Amino acid sequence: MAGRATETRGNKLAANYIASKFQALNIQSYTPDYRHPFLFGSANKRQGVNLIGYIPGQNTDNRKTIVVTAHYDHLGTQGKHIFYGADDNASGVSAMLALARYWRQYPPLNNILFLATDAEEDGLYGSKHFVKNPPIALEEIMLNINLDMVARGGAKKRLYFAGTRKNKMIGELLAPHLSTARVCVRAGHETRSSLLIAGRQGPDWNNASDHAPFRKEGIPYIYFGVDVHGDYHQTSDTFENIDPEFFVNSVQTIVNFSVVLDQKLEQLSSIEN
Ligand SMILES: [Zn+2]
Repeated sequence: MAGRATETRGNKLAANYIASKFQALNIQSYTPDYRHPFLFGSANKRQGVNLIGYIPGQNTDNRKTIVVTAHYDHLGTQGKHIFYGADDNASGVSAMLALARYWRQYPPLNNILFLATDAEEDGLYGSKHFVKNPPIALEEIMLNINLDMVARGGAKKRLYFAGTRKNKMIGELLAPHLSTARVCVRAGHETRSSLLIAGRQGPDWNNASDHAPFRKEGIPYIYFGVDVHGDYHQTSDTFENIDPEFFVNSVQTIVNFSVVLDQKLEQLSSIEN
């Protein structure tokens, strides 16, 4: 899919793939085909396409919703070079589909909305558009679970989650489950990464991915991701360079934690900015 840059053929193929997976899982849609196009960029001349599906919760009297996000776009190509984005963020999209499959089998208490965003790499445009034009009332959204780069934990085999500085209750709910997780899970990435990339400081994880627009709306969020690695935004972010064993355990951990948060969702309150 040639790096899935927004407005390319490869990006459309990726969107088709996700829509076909949603359909195969019987995920419900607000539109005939899960697609929610939006305009962005200078003079709104560019177009992205978010994919949205949902699973209704068992608590039919409550309208509380968890939004799971993962961006499916990446950097595309430069000349002959393809930026594959296996970790960034085919991994997060796969984890989102695993969550969808789990919750189809074991229905969630709350409504779960799955949002595969486009134009994240251009500036979080898919998630920015979503929070300004949500298909449900914004007040119904109690939590954003954002998945961006979850397939390789480095030498320390570590998966991070961010969002507990803004909402301590998320950390308290997950604390009893940290020691039994199948990967080393750490709260972190809440300040600028200490890792230096090519002599420059790493990105600020508070704003670096699709949870940021939710945070700005006062919605609690938990962002799962691994530390910046040498293949980040390089042509070497390939399938061969992900860590399959870590990836499986990481997805398992994300599913387990998400189930805990669904069951305890009423304990979360909104956050201050
Ligand atoms: Zn990413």
